[in-house]
Amino acid sequence: MAVSDHVDLPKFIEGVKRRNPGQPEFVQAVQEVAQDIFEFIADKPKYHEYQILRRIAEPDRVVSFRVCWEDDKGNIRVQRGWRVQNNNAIGPYKGGIRFHPSVTESVLKFLAFEQTFKNALTGLPMGGGKGGANFNPKGKSDHEVMRFCQSLMTELYRHIGADVDVPAGDIGVGAREIGYMFGQYKRITNEFTGVLTGKGLEFGGSLIRTEATGYGCVYFLENMLKHIKQDVAGKKAVISGSGNVATHAAEKIVQLGGTVLTLSDSEGFIHDPDGFTLEKINWVKELKNRRRGRISEYAKEFKNAKFYGEGARPWGIACDVALPCATQNELQAADAKKLLANGCKAVSEGANMPTDLEATHLFKEAGILFAPGKAANAGGVAVSGLEMSQNSARISWKEDDLQKLLQDIMRGIHDRCAEYGGKAGTDHIDYVRGANIAGFKKVADAMLAFGVV
Ligand code: NDP
Repeated sequence: MAVSDHVDLPKFIEGVKRRNPGQPEFVQAVQEVAQDIFEFIADKPKYHEYQILRRIAEPDRVVSFRVCWEDDKGNIRVQRGWRVQNNNAIGPYKGGIRFHPSVTESVLKFLAFEQTFKNALTGLPMGGGKGGANFNPKGKSDHEVMRFCQSLMTELYRHIGADVDVPAGDIGVGAREIGYMFGQYKRITNEFTGVLTGKGLEFGGSLIRTEATGYGCVYFLENMLKHIKQDVAGKKAVISGSGNVATHAAEKIVQLGGTVLTLSDSEGFIHDPDGFTLEKINWVKELKNRRRGRISEYAKEFKNAKFYGEGARPWGIACDVALPCATQNELQAADAKKLLANGCKAVSEGANMPTDLEATHLFKEAGILFAPGKAANAGGVAVSGLEMSQNSARISWKEDDLQKLLQDIMRGIHDRCAEYGGKAGTDHIDYVRGANIAGFKKVADAMLAFGVV
């Protein structure tokens, strides 16, 4: 195909929309990446000729299946499960499993697409995938969750494997769910392999996997601040979410001398003007993980704190840095304007695509430090990659070694973003462009080596 025959960006996006009707999250994720990639490949005809971006934006396969389970009252319930295997050019598919009523094929395709770039950025050999089900674990008993996980794995097991596709946790899927799914996989296949990550330490899990995404997100922030000769100490942070990523990001901010002012859940947010201490963060972990409670309860326990309900988000609280760590599209244009007006200097995304396109443009225009999730939250999958290595070698690494590896990996991702996102003649780094191009280039070059497959 001649270079002059290449489709331009608007036509490419039009095609993505046409081929993926009713999948706005997926179209949004592709659109965000495509802009930067089109600029990058403008003078590199091989990537056009081999239709690399078009191929990455078409998952290798999407498996969708029925998941039947019985609730505690004896009712038969039916859910839908999916696994999206987006791209395995540089390693086995790898990406979490999400249980949430908002899960759709579009959401999982967007996450699998993003995961492809993120995993490439870590420098480890992992392709991109994602899975999940429209199942709501809230309010379910342990036995209900167990029966659901076993039923899901009874179908999923045939599509995954330690060298094929290695799922992990995500929203609604933590240590409990991974344990149930791993147990069922082992039972069906009679194999003990590293087919899932985020496992319990007793059966092949890695130290610091639980903390890795939140810690990594703060390490990335630290690297960005270092670039402008600042650090986390003394900074006021606004964080959304109160799950795995949010609580560990909060913990690391406090350990580095910053102050955390907010945490949230889907019902609203808590503003604690005294700051969340490590003890208070542990209280939140206990509340969410063991008692499966709501963040509003914090205000009853700690009297100076105030709860803002009806799904309110914390972006109106004045801060130096913001860490959206709950879910996609939770930070929109009006929120970005409030953050900028209040003097926010840096945003590091713990969640996947929490900032929508318009808000991202506002941050970019304002020239503040802005780290996209595919770079800033890659610490989780990176330690998952290290869990895979430990499982293959049948050994366990020490915590200190893993902590150091995580910090090195996050610095490496920062530097890869800087390499492709730097602007000549300035010290400004466009981390979104840098992450998109660095992730793309690695996957694209592997795909070129394989020819047309
Ligand atoms: P958890 O299930 O542990 O926590 C999710 C948090 O986000 C909860 O506080 C939840 O509130 C809130 N939340 C979920 N959905 C919504 C919504 N629609 N609106 C408002 N709040 C919501 O998940 P994680 O902490 O693991 O994941 C958070 C984000 O980080 C996700 O985007 C995930 O994809 C991303 N991520 C996670 C990684 C990991 O290692 N866990 C790795 C990389 C990215 P509630 O309790 O009310 O549901």
